Amino acid sequence: MTPDLFDTHAHLHFPEFAGDLAGVLARARAAGVRRMLTIGTDVETSRAAVALAGREPDVWAAVGIHPHDAASADAASLAELERLAGADRVVAIGETGLDFFRDLSPRDAQARAFRAQLALARRAGKPVVVHCRDAHAETLAILAEASVGDTGGIMHCFSGDLAVARRCLDLGLLISLAGPVTYPKARALPDVARAVPADRLVVETDCPFLPPQPHRGQRNEPAWLALTAARVAALRGEPLEALAARTTANARALLRI
Ligand SMILES: [Zn+2]
Ligand SMILES: [Zn+2]
Repeated sequence: MTPDLFDTHAHLHFPEFAGDLAGVLARARAAGVRRMLTIGTDVETSRAAVALAGREPDVWAAVGIHPHDAASADAASLAELERLAGADRVVAIGETGLDFFRDLSPRDAQARAFRAQLALARRAGKPVVVHCRDAHAETLAILAEASVGDTGGIMHCFSGDLAVARRCLDLGLLISLAGPVTYPKARALPDVARAVPADRLVVETDCPFLPPQPHRGQRNEPAWLALTAARVAALRGEPLEALAARTTANARALLRI
């Protein structure tokens, strides 16, 4: 029996997949990935995400401006994002958040773009997809100030420790585990995988980035979500099928799919 998986964070419309997207989607479906959320990172890729979701029955879109691109989040970009947010099959706003690891946009611009997208999510009545790297205190403070629990959201590619996970849960977020939970140096992620309540956990690839352990160094793709889900299921001591069904139900409830 193949598991029923939902890849809650993919960038299928990125150029890395332009040459063989049909094959990538076919392998995903064969591996049990029945639903995928493709995520925009600026206005242009958000448009591409919406277009792809319009073509594929098992792909939905999130529209947003990534912290790396936050310097581009001017009034015109945010207005266009708001227009896209109303499109068919757009089920979330993001990815948005803070990234103080790479600091590709100034930190004040990142915070401004993050707050603007949280407000947009509230107006649109859609949940947020949050990106956070080396900025947990600041990200959690902004999420709390915005009462993110009203729209709900996903802390994607969770990279914090148990204390950060508990704060995310208190704020009303789901926690999404990605390929790094399979790495030998997974730090606190195995503890997080065991501790998150069953109704608050989802899984993702973040493809083309962050492939799970046996594929490190290669382009990631949704078919490999089963490897990450199997690792999480083993850590929790449950069958893969049960973990897959539960995380899929959680994603569908939040995204209203
Ligand atoms: Zn991200
Ligand atoms: Zn991403």
